[in-house]
Amino acid sequence: MDKDRKLSKLKNSILKFNKNFPGKNLVFSDGNKDAKVMIIGEAPGRTEDKLQKPFVGRAGKILDSLLESVHLDRSKVYITNVVNYRPDKNRKPTPKEINEFKKLLFKHIEIINPKCILLLGATAATAVLNHNGPLGEVRGKWKNIKIINSHFNILTTFHPAFLLRQIDKKKIALKDLVLLKKEVKFI
Ligand code: URA
Repeated sequence: MDKDRKLSKLKNSILKFNKNFPGKNLVFSDGNKDAKVMIIGEAPGRTEDKLQKPFVGRAGKILDSLLESVHLDRSKVYITNVVNYRPDKNRKPTPKEINEFKKLLFKHIEIINPKCILLLGATAATAVLNHNGPLGEVRGKWKNIKIINSHFNILTTFHPAFLLRQIDKKKIALKDLVLLKKEVKFI
């Protein structure tokens, strides 16, 4: 089965979760399905729910500027979230939701088969690295993790929404992006 068919099958499986998020739209992904880099956020916000695309609101502008700093854009990356629906009132996804969506996210990673993965923030680190401690313990470090049947190089950085509140941390995030770019050049 080709990538497009696998992705549309996955999308149909995720659509079944719509009943748990009444009135919300599925926000599946954006970018290039053949990109070397896959970026994983937490869950859509209000603008993402409305436009049905990840990272198109204020946090998305920060993400775009981080990518631009290393000459990347949405034609060179593939973007999704751990949870594909907007949790009510912008709350964080619950551990149960993270766990439910994790299986689908892993399938998503397997289908895209990126060369490397950038995790944005603690929810993505919990889902993918099984990391529940402070983000500082994993941020800026490459990990090689087995997902389903393959190993992936995975880097974690701050969530762009956190950078909206703590703009001084953007310098650190930019350093993480340089690490990502080095890896992308290498592969
Ligand atoms: N925050 C996220 O984690 N994902 C989005 O798509 C938007 C904001």
